[in-house]
Amino acid sequence: MADGKPILIAGGGIGGLSAALGMAQKGRSCIVLEKASRFGEIGAGIQLGPNAFHAFDYLGVGDAARAKAVYVDNLRLMDAMTGEEITHVPLDEPFRKRFGNPYAVVHRVDLHGVLLEGCRASDLVDLRTDSEVLSYEQDGASVTAVLASGERVTGAALIGADGLWSNVRRQVVGDGPPRVSGHTTYRSVIATEKMPEDLRWNAATLWAGPRCHVVHYPLSGWKVFNLVATFHNDAPEPVAGKPVSNEEVLAGFRHICARAQSIIEHGEDWKLWVLCDREPVENWVDGRVTLLGDAAHPMMQYLAQGACMAMEDGVCVSHMLGEHPDSIETAFTVYRDRRVVRTAWVQLQARAIGEHIYHPDGAHALVRNAIMSATSPEEWYDRLEWLYGGTGLDGTFR
Ligand SMILES: Cc1cc2nc3c(=O)[nH]c(=O)nc-3n(C[C@H](O)[C@H](O)[C@H](O)COP(=O)(O)OP(=O)(O)OC[C@H]3O[C@@H](n4cnc5c(N)ncnc54)[C@H](O)[C@@H]3O)c2cc1C
Repeated sequence: MADGKPILIAGGGIGGLSAALGMAQKGRSCIVLEKASRFGEIGAGIQLGPNAFHAFDYLGVGDAARAKAVYVDNLRLMDAMTGEEITHVPLDEPFRKRFGNPYAVVHRVDLHGVLLEGCRASDLVDLRTDSEVLSYEQDGASVTAVLASGERVTGAALIGADGLWSNVRRQVVGDGPPRVSGHTTYRSVIATEKMPEDLRWNAATLWAGPRCHVVHYPLSGWKVFNLVATFHNDAPEPVAGKPVSNEEVLAGFRHICARAQSIIEHGEDWKLWVLCDREPVENWVDGRVTLLGDAAHPMMQYLAQGACMAMEDGVCVSHMLGEHPDSIETAFTVYRDRRVVRTAWVQLQARAIGEHIYHPDGAHALVRNAIMSATSPEEWYDRLEWLYGGTGLDGTFR
């Protein structure tokens, strides 16, 4: 190892903590600098492909993560205009055998908690709150993170895992603010008994309609249902977590069938986000500084892979630091080269899926239904192989 200085990680979200756990696995110390006054997660449910479980296993928390998950039977696609099922992807034994791990849904707090407990159990991870990283300086042998408090923290390298509005990215890439997608997402969690009984499916269900969709699945040992409703209303400004009334949410979904609307009617305490992503970029490295997760490749949520990719990044960057202990610059360059194409492809696919599967209308929707309903489970598995069969280390993109 070139020196004994710790690796600095800006941001203690799913990506930053995955990287910290990965470092600990490699015997490398790190300091996680988190802006908030406590470590935590905002929002409720998250879907995890088998590739997330490959990452959990690498990070040594596979069993803890599996214990928190709800194992859904299907990914189910419904036509929100006709109320008919278009297709479903079975997630049973053949799926698990094919990809070596299950597909699951989990509460964000539980997922983050598994990673946080893993970090707390390691002497090598120093977790610091109230530590917003504003910028960095480097001299070829070390990196100093400059905090909002004025404090300066020096380490061997810096990983910017500071999310969509990353300060570290501003310096590494400098490509301005994120792109506002114009898609407004409303999120709610309801008690299972409030979910219409005939819709209490053990599935990650998507109702796709013109310029809108609704997603629901059970969470937290079936105590609650996670509801996510999205309306492509060309919202011009980014918004995060603003409370909204049921009436305001319903206004974007009056054109879909009554059964799909009834899901929204049961929602409560809705909060609103206007979603953002970025154009993929080819470089995330500046000497001893790199990026991961949403700081590197923020994406629309339509492939349900942003957190999965952040965990894969954590696996890859820590692995490469282990492989190249004497050159952080080399480790970061190899990490970037291994990750850019796979994550850029997920970013681009997530946008395309939004347009062609989640939100089409008229003949465009008929094409979707015709193609998707004619696809067999084995064909779905073949199409998903690059994503779910891949890992943070192999860089698979097709
Ligand atoms: C509606 C919706 C649904 C989604 N569903 C899924 C899904 O089903 N499956 C999936 O895999 N992904 C999903 N995602 C994506 C996923 O939530 C993100 O990709 C993932 O959380 C990114 O993790 P991260 O650690 O990179 O960033 P973040 O979660 O944004 O964490 C960044 C951390 O850094 C801290 N921070 C910020 N700035 C600074 C700073 N300057 N200094 C220090 N700390 C800082 C923040 O407080 C935060 O703790 C969804 C996203 C949305 C919006």
